[in-house]
Amino acid sequence: MLRDKTAVITGGSRGIGRAICEKFAENGANIAVIYSGSEGKAAELTQKLISSGVKANAYKCNVASFEETASAFKQIIRDFGTIDILVNNAGITKDKLVLAMREQDFDDVISVNLKGAFNAIKQVYPVFAKQRSGKIINISSISGLIGNPGQANYSASKAGLIGLTKTVAKELASRGVCCNAIAPGFIRTDMTAAFTEENPFVGSIPMGRMGLPEEVAELALFLASKSSDYITGEVIRIDGGLAM
Ligand code: NAP
Repeated sequence: MLRDKTAVITGGSRGIGRAICEKFAENGANIAVIYSGSEGKAAELTQKLISSGVKANAYKCNVASFEETASAFKQIIRDFGTIDILVNNAGITKDKLVLAMREQDFDDVISVNLKGAFNAIKQVYPVFAKQRSGKIINISSISGLIGNPGQANYSASKAGLIGLTKTVAKELASRGVCCNAIAPGFIRTDMTAAFTEENPFVGSIPMGRMGLPEEVAELALFLASKSSDYITGEVIRIDGGLAM
């Protein structure tokens, strides 16, 4: 479904981002993996992708830094020729009730989750506009749709991502570029390691279980492929019915 396309996945070293890298590569895409600290995991993943027959490379880059992001994307374009798909997946949490949340906790989460996506979109925007095609997929969260106590910073960043998604979708629609958001519920990764299936919160998920990174990757594949060429500015929940 993605043969000869080049995809950049931020936060591709672990969790949902890693599953997206693997799913896109299975479907023929060449993969640029952006990571911030997990050098070993990113290197192991790119080796695995290369042995499956696609081109892959890892780039250490803190997406919260505009300069680092700009230079990583310049290098990616030099290495791969162009970019066709951007997945803004890098994300962090610093959960606390507002009463205990420090200004720095708020700024850090907004800087990675929201400004990081802006920083990456800035790099592909002129490329996609010029080639009159491209797919941007922003990984938001149901916390951005319905809020979540203890996540004022995170919910604000994920709600902001939805506004960013719709604006970029409107700006680039006439150029044939699609920009959509995915809003996952509880997905089994390092980020949710504290949650067990016995947690009462997990019990409140209508489907009765947490989701898997591979399930989010299937949805990302659809949004990255030709099958979704007439879908833009959309937010798709993948949450076992939690936020319905
Ligand atoms: P994860 O397992 O904690 O992985 C986070 C990824 O983001 C890692 O690859 C990490 O790189 C990267 N990253 C963190 N800060 C970065 C930075 N400043 N610059 C570049 N990369 C950075 O998280 P996950 O659960 O897969 O979550 C992926 C995305 O889905 C996030 O945006 C998250 O908010 C969203 N989401 C997750 C869930 C869930 O239940 N898991 C639900 C809704 C939404 P390193 O490995 O190098 O640290």
